[in-house]
Amino acid sequence: MSSVRQTLAVVVPAYNEAAVLPEFNARLLAVFAQLDVDACVLYVDDGSRDETWDTITTLARDDTRVAALKLSRNFGKEAALSAGLDQVDADAVLVIDADLQDPPELLPQFIEKWREGYDVVYGKRLERDGETWLKRATAAAFYRVMQRLSSTAIPPDTGDFRLMSRRALEALRGLRERQRFMKGIFAWVGFPQVALPYRRDPRHAGVSKFNYWKLWNFALEGITSFSTAPLRVATYVGLATALVAFGFGLWIVAKTLLWGNPVAGYPSLMTVILFLGGMQLMALGVIGEYLGRLYMEAKARPLYLLDSFHPASGTVPQATAPWQAHVPDVIAAEATR
Ligand code: UDP
Ligand code: MG
Repeated sequence: MSSVRQTLAVVVPAYNEAAVLPEFNARLLAVFAQLDVDACVLYVDDGSRDETWDTITTLARDDTRVAALKLSRNFGKEAALSAGLDQVDADAVLVIDADLQDPPELLPQFIEKWREGYDVVYGKRLERDGETWLKRATAAAFYRVMQRLSSTAIPPDTGDFRLMSRRALEALRGLRERQRFMKGIFAWVGFPQVALPYRRDPRHAGVSKFNYWKLWNFALEGITSFSTAPLRVATYVGLATALVAFGFGLWIVAKTLLWGNPVAGYPSLMTVILFLGGMQLMALGVIGEYLGRLYMEAKARPLYLLDSFHPASGTVPQATAPWQAHVPDVIAAEATR
């Protein structure tokens, strides 16, 4: 081991979290004291409408290990995370929610696994306290569908609570897609990964920012970002329908030849027309989902915009590279470990 201490950066996205941040910060800094690495924390204020930014800047003023970053508006958790990850420069980076659902006290265990040689250590939820039966069931169903549709193996019951090595972080920074399904992006990067099982606590204060409509859109995001299987559904359904229609046509011809044609068939005609119309609209909708995302990617807007940045005044170095266009050479990242 070299004599230079390793560095760790903790990135915390926060949206309207003023109520829990002081408690979170106190617990996190208490954990820092037990570590044998130089640790710092970066809070990313995702355009909060409460006192989150004031709280963060106060925390940053009171401790040299605390840095604060503010986005120009609410960009969503994924963008806030990416903004934070673009700013830090450390041997390892931990991503954790501000609401104390992911206990900061697990940090030493994350570091231990990282030192064993894993590039990505992800928290795997054992139990979901304070979450309804419905949320658990829908989450389980979602992971099952993802597993089937996508060739990227996305581990179930993992959130964004994870530690990454420098090379994993640099690889991650290279993925600048606008549709940011982080669970999938984390998994796509690869490298040796290991799960760290933990119990997810209920929220300490405040309310969850995710409702079912958001979760549904989140699921669509995940599926469309990591699979094109739905685009193929229309092909197979169309093929099957055509085969059945062909058989049905033969049957009608035979029936007419054998028994004549007493004009009947309005109901069956309607059924077939409506069925096919419905199928076509559905297939169009699926294509539209992908087309819309292609449109968003084609515009190539920045993932987020920064309002202000208070770097930590302590010893841990911060990235000096500008936030934009930081696309590292992923292959060169190989050599850093
Ligand atoms: N968050 C964010 N931007 C948003 C929504 C949420 O930065 O637009 C942060 C939030 O402050 C928290 C984390 O993302 O630190 C997880 O949010 P939340 O606890 O509401 O999600 P849940 O745990 O219910 O999935
Ligand atoms: Mg939460």
